[in-house]
Amino acid sequence: MKKHGSTARLRIDAAACDGIGVCAHLASEVLELDRWGFPIITARDLSRGELSAATRAVRACPRKALWIETAEVPAVAERAPGVTTPS
Ligand code: SF4
Repeated sequence: MKKHGSTARLRIDAAACDGIGVCAHLASEVLELDRWGFPIITARDLSRGELSAATRAVRACPRKALWIETAEVPAVAERAPGVTTPS
């Protein structure tokens, strides 16, 4: 059996952001604001619940400065421990 999936991370174009902070109010699970009101995004994969919050923030951003980057996780053969593959 092979396993595969995808990961998602929230990204920001800092040059486009105006720092008003609408995003952090809508998605406090994945964003917080620095002392100047600009969002800080954690560099980690989003959970399913966080993905929903991040999507709200992306849709609400008036500057289109946020987006969700997805990546496919390659399929990995699932093997029992100790079983080797012939070379
Ligand atoms: S909503 Fe958009 S423009 Fe406003 S602070 Fe967040 S990322 Fe920046």
